[in-house]
This record gives sequence, C-alpha cells and structure tokens, in this order.
Amino acid sequence: MATETFDLVILGAGPAGLSASIYAARAGLRCVVFSSGPIGGELPEISHISNYPGFVGSGADLAEAMKKQAEAAGARIAYGKCTRIRQAEAAGGLSPKNAGPSEGFVLAVDEEEISARAVLVATGSEPKTLDFEVEKPVSYCALCDGNLVKGKNIAVIGGANSALQETLYLADLASKVTIISHSPLKAEKFLCQKAEKISNIEIMEGVEVSAELLNQFDHIFVYIGKRPASCFLNDIEVSVVNEQGYIVTGVGERAHETTLAGLFAAGDVREGTVRQVITAAGDGAAAATEIIDFMK
Ligand SMILES: Cc1cc2nc3c(=O)[nH]c(=O)nc-3n(C[C@H](O)[C@H](O)[C@H](O)COP(=O)(O)OP(=O)(O)OC[C@H]3O[C@@H](n4cnc5c(N)ncnc54)[C@H](O)[C@@H]3O)c2cc1C
Repeated sequence: MATETFDLVILGAGPAGLSASIYAARAGLRCVVFSSGPIGGELPEISHISNYPGFVGSGADLAEAMKKQAEAAGARIAYGKCTRIRQAEAAGGLSPKNAGPSEGFVLAVDEEEISARAVLVATGSEPKTLDFEVEKPVSYCALCDGNLVKGKNIAVIGGANSALQETLYLADLASKVTIISHSPLKAEKFLCQKAEKISNIEIMEGVEVSAELLNQFDHIFVYIGKRPASCFLNDIEVSVVNEQGYIVTGVGERAHETTLAGLFAAGDVREGTVRQVITAAGDGAAAATEIIDFMK
C-alpha cells in the first residue's frame, strides 16, 4: 500500500464514506476507503434505527449491508488511520484552488505515505467527554457497554436524540435510568413521550451535572455532543475547517469541495449538515458525483 497512487482516497467507512465508495467504484475510479474504526462508523453503535427509509433494524445490520454493497460494487475497504494530509508539491509549487488544477495530496495512513488526486474526508465525529473526573465507570456507547449495567442504577447525561435513544435501550437492562439534561429535552417528541411512559426512567431537566451528583450512580453514559474528527488536516497550508473543526465546503462551484481543489468532505464532519445516517449517505453520494466530475 505504501507506494500506491489512487484517483481517490476516502477517509472513513461510515454511511458517508461507504455510500461514496459505491458511486466511485461504479464510475471506475481507482479508489480505496480507509477506516480507523469499525466498518460502518457509528452505525454498529446504534441499537435500533427507525428513521432510515426502507430499513428498520439494528445499526450493525445496516453497516453490514452497506459494506457488502460497497464491496460488490468493487470498492476496496481497508483499516488504516490517517494522521496527516498535505498537498503534493507541483513543479510550480502548491496549488490552492484559484491557482489551477490540483497536483493532488499525500496522506500518512498508519505512517505509510499514499498519494491521491482527490481526497474525500468522511471521518465523522467523536463524542465530547466530561471535563471533570468521576469515580464511577463512564461509557459513550450503550450497545457496547450495556452488558455492564444489568440491574444497576445508571445516569445518562444529555437531552438530544442520542441520549434518549440510548436511554430506551438501557432501560431494558438497568434497574433505573436517570436522564440528566442541563436544559429542557431537545430530542424528538416521539422519543421523549416513549421515555416518559417507561417506569424505570426518570427525567431531570435543567440540572447541571457535577462529580458529586454523578458519583451517586453506578455507571454514567455521556451524550453531550460531538467534535469533528478533522485534526489530521492541520498540516494543510490553507485552513479548511471552521472554529469548531468542522470542514467548510461549497465555497466554489461544488457543494462538497473545500477551498482546496480536490479536497472534499461529506457526512457529519462537514459544516452545516444534519447529522443523521440518511444525510451522511446522501452527502457521500453527492460528493462522489462531484469528484467523478472533478476527475474529468
Ligand atoms: C448512539 C448513536 C445513535 C444514533 N442514532 C441514529 C439514528 O437512529 N438515526 C440516524 O439517522 N442517525 C443516528 N445517529 C447518527 C449517525 O450514526 C451519524 O450521523 C452517521 O453515522 C454519520 O455518518 P458519517 O459517515 O458521517 O460518520 P461516522 O459514522 O462517524 O463514520 C466515520 C468513519 O470515519 C473513520 N475515521 C475517523 N477518523 C479517521 C481517520 N483519521 N482516518 C481514517 N478513518 C477515520 C471512523 O472509524 C468511521 O469509520 C446515531 C449516533 C449515535 C452515536
């Protein structure tokens, strides 16, 4: 892999990256998908998906179906973490978008160098962590750690969809689940109403979390937001991220391209998108279509 050159490197094998890989493979691009974590991205963490049209079931099953479909289309998927991206130097120097065609990019993936004419960043986001220590175990994925809470009194921190969805799953395992949200719940009404009807779920709204409060529980699950997985872009000469680290696209004529020709973004890592499976998959498809056009 070390010396290989690709038309397109896709970073991330979540719904955005896998969907893009289907389009890229079908268009005959020499393309590889690298993923630092499980194939499917966050999908395997989702116990039950009911808002992806045409599919109702576990995220793990959807991840497997997407992976199979991508491979059947000819996509190559490999494990590998990108730690750096830089622009390839042309004879005339670096190529910002307004200086003409891109010379491509050099990526460090598991410390090996890989070249690509175009890169699609679809690396999603990572959970924000508590900014203080607690004495009790802390988790960020109910499906992964649910087996640790059987019969226990647990707390879920957060008030958006992920927190509520995870609470509904954990309530079947724990003796009691207390949702603690610093503001009124922001999750969809459907999820809030469901939680309100379950006898071992308590909802605490407008409560600031503290170590003292959380230490009263046996186990803590945290869903207080995300931060984009984009720090490997720091070596690029021109900033392509906003203050929070989300990738800014759509400055030029292509909606998923950054200010650098040939550097694209899709899914949760992109600024201003709805962060859902369906939007990530759609974003991947749209970005791949723009990349196919860029290659021409
Ligand atoms: C608990 C939970 C429940 C959810 N429930 C729902 C739901 O019911 N419905 C819904 O629509 N959405 C739900 N979501 C949100 C949904 O999962 C995301 O919006 C979606 O997965 C985003 O897709 P993505 O491809 O942009 O990123 P991700 O799925 O996050 O995938 C990112 C990929 O990038 C890889 N990666 C990261 N950094 C690097 C790197 N440096 N190099 C190489 N690879 C890298 C990761 O390993 C991963 O493969 C839920 C999320 C969570 C956490």
